[in-house]
Amino acid sequence: MFAGVDVTGVDDLLSSPSARIATEIAQDAQRSENRCAAAKVIAAGRLHEIRFAAISAGEDGLGPQFGNIADKGATVEVATTLGVSTSKATTLIGLAIALDALPDLRAAFLNGDMDIYRTTMIATTIDTHEPIVRKQLEAEAIRLDAETAMSHRQLRDRLEAMCIELDPEQAARDREDFAEQQDFRVKPDRHGHAVIAGCVPAQDGREIEARVADLVATLCHGDPRWIGQKRAAAHLALIRGETTLSCWCGADDCPSASDAPSAELVPVRTLVVVHADAPTPAGHVGAMTPWIDGHGAIDPVLVRRLAADATWQEMYGDTLTAHSQTSASGARRGRRHPAGTIGCIRDGHRQTSGHTPAPGPPPGALTYTPSQSLRDWITDHDQHCRFPFCNQPPDACEIDHQIPLDHTDPAGGGWTIRINLALLCVLHHHVKTAGLWHAHMHPDRSITWTHRDTGAAFTTHPVR
Ligand SMILES: [Zn+2]
Ligand SMILES: [Zn+2]
Repeated sequence: MFAGVDVTGVDDLLSSPSARIATEIAQDAQRSENRCAAAKVIAAGRLHEIRFAAISAGEDGLGPQFGNIADKGATVEVATTLGVSTSKATTLIGLAIALDALPDLRAAFLNGDMDIYRTTMIATTIDTHEPIVRKQLEAEAIRLDAETAMSHRQLRDRLEAMCIELDPEQAARDREDFAEQQDFRVKPDRHGHAVIAGCVPAQDGREIEARVADLVATLCHGDPRWIGQKRAAAHLALIRGETTLSCWCGADDCPSASDAPSAELVPVRTLVVVHADAPTPAGHVGAMTPWIDGHGAIDPVLVRRLAADATWQEMYGDTLTAHSQTSASGARRGRRHPAGTIGCIRDGHRQTSGHTPAPGPPPGALTYTPSQSLRDWITDHDQHCRFPFCNQPPDACEIDHQIPLDHTDPAGGGWTIRINLALLCVLHHHVKTAGLWHAHMHPDRSITWTHRDTGAAFTTHPVR
């Protein structure tokens, strides 16, 4: 049915390796796989529709104990046809039905431009909206997928922010409906371990993560465990109601040793940071889409609910004070607060008002290490590693000088300024430093990445 992949070429590749042929086959195969997946989804949807109608027509004799037997029977037929579970068949049929209302997305999928994961994510993110809004979202999703090198999560975040901007009431309804997905489970894993999985409201998720990180941060550098083990230990300690974590460094003078006084060890600081302009919590329409640091866009109704919650009210008062005390960067991180879900609401206009650069290097430009406010600005605008399709968060990234600072002639370039700095994870920092990929940052802070040998190029953009 489709042109597909040249299997002889794959055989040749196994006997005589070639990077060029491997690249071509991998790209062809990805495209063919996408087209086959689209054909499967569409056919599964049609099979369900036809069998549903046929079973419905003949079901008169069946009692109510069979429920919607036409749907059940048709779904089971799709499952047995494909040799998959009924729940998997239900997912495929659901996608086919959603794509009936998203013909351009379906065409991109069928054309091989998009894989099933991305198509499913886009369809489920936008399919509850009114037709006019949905059309706009569909067009933008296809454009972003084709023209940017966004990771799956970045694309989803962007679409969710757009959904909230275009239709805040629907976004609030979707959030409330999604509450049914909340869960907490512990499942057996291999080698005597268990996996914990859950779905909680965004602000609670951020709070859990921040509390675990705070507790991990009390361990000294000599603790030999890897970061994941430390997080697992911290999570268990919190579940047990413990306020300290024993350091495994073995040093007598370790401040985190298990017999040290505990009161000083638990830092109490801002846990969850909400960004919204001042009118939003008061119930008016703000000029910016609110978001939670480390999570992404949230709907204004949630901001209002948080602002009305007793533990959040104090923060709103604090914010007004913070505005009069802080500079353009707005939010103050690491503030000391009583424990609980604490946030900070920031004025978007204030935050985005930049200063006019003066000629010559601005203050701090010739110092290699960026100031804290510059670090905050870069983190706030990039929010993840700036390499194509990478989604490593700021705490896994370093601030990279796109053009290295020349220590022998600092004024000559490679300054420590906004348009020469970007977040990069360790892996992508290394491939850049090793010269495998060349990065060129443009005045709008977009970065074009070009492969040294193949010339393959991608452009990534800051989130703000
Ligand atoms: Zn220690
Ligand atoms: Zn990266």
